Amino acid sequence: MRKPRLMAPGPAPVPEEVLLEMARPVIHSRDPRTKQAIKEAIEGLREVLKTANDVAILAATGTGAMEAAVIHAVPPGKKALVLNAGWFGLRWAKICQAHGIPFETIDVEWGQPVDPARVAEALTGRDDIAVVCGTLSETSTGTGHPIEAIGKVVAETAALFAVDGISGVGAMECRTDDWKIDLLAVGSQKALMLPPGLAFVAVSPKAWAVIDSFEPKAFYFSLKAARKKLAEWDTPYTPAHTLIFGLVKSLERIKAEGIENVWARHKTMSDACQAGVKALGLELFSARPAEGLTAFVVPQGLKDTDIRKKLDDRFGLSIVGGQDKLKGKICRIGHMGYNDEVDVVGALAALEMVLAELGHEFEPGAGVSAAQRVLIGQGSPVGAA
Ligand SMILES: *Cc1c(COP(=O)(O)O)cnc(C)c1O
Repeated sequence: MRKPRLMAPGPAPVPEEVLLEMARPVIHSRDPRTKQAIKEAIEGLREVLKTANDVAILAATGTGAMEAAVIHAVPPGKKALVLNAGWFGLRWAKICQAHGIPFETIDVEWGQPVDPARVAEALTGRDDIAVVCGTLSETSTGTGHPIEAIGKVVAETAALFAVDGISGVGAMECRTDDWKIDLLAVGSQKALMLPPGLAFVAVSPKAWAVIDSFEPKAFYFSLKAARKKLAEWDTPYTPAHTLIFGLVKSLERIKAEGIENVWARHKTMSDACQAGVKALGLELFSARPAEGLTAFVVPQGLKDTDIRKKLDDRFGLSIVGGQDKLKGKICRIGHMGYNDEVDVVGALAALEMVLAELGHEFEPGAGVSAAQRVLIGQGSPVGAA
């Protein structure tokens, strides 16, 4: 018996009703039902993203949304400022590089949140910086960044604020308009409870003014083309409508729970998972854990591949290791989207059984118990008094 349990920080699990919706026969992409679904999807996304902005739907993964954002944000002669605090922060720089877009970085130690004061300092007296590129939830380190505070800083300048919300949106509080996010990139396969394949870019009026001031080098990812078609609830090229029908279903679920409640559930899962991991004598990797995943340091003498292989072989539980320079150093448990508190407790129980087998010393039940105390409301989350 091996029951699949996907607790990766993306792709994340998809609810049965969403899967069933997508199992229906494919209709023609120009069928009126497709337009209706695009309309409902965009209206639903606006609620989830807390925005009145235009939202472009792309048939791409999240990186496509990041690429679309960057190539529209930097007119000739201007630069991007990349907040580089992990593997995905670095991706902004790699996209700039690929397009020959000049950029500078603010380099932050992996696992630490970006300090908004450093962004303010970097922007002082600079009119050549067209966009600041940040990350809501840096999935490679499991860190949540202070996007609201950085947004305040950027909003006082002419620069745009582009945010990678790919693993953050739907797991962490994200108020696109109030937080002054001009270009928000989102992907479908994390907390939005869909398979990979859709990406979204929310574009503010401030961003449109920049985009309309030059000829961005974009064809497939042209946001101007997307805007034109959005007016009739359509996309410039064949919409990935099977996924869009699924999206309408997953957005219905989020709406029924209430986005504020969705954020609160993720915060609770995160607090419980952190408490559980700490109670097993494991160290959290991030100084400011993101709500959608928990990263812990692989204890001395153990191998991350052994932990993950045993979790998968014995319990079908899929978590992930570290990326790039964190390879072998950390493990990351995803608890986003279609995961709940019981999944977190179950993952900790499985982790305990595997760690015991690998000879890691701890009090059996300690992780589960610490997590449950948080869930019952009797334990203090890590970091609280
Ligand atoms: C998953 C992820 C990405 C990459 O998304 P793809 O869908 O693989 O293109 C980018 N940024 C963050 C923060 C992510 O979690």
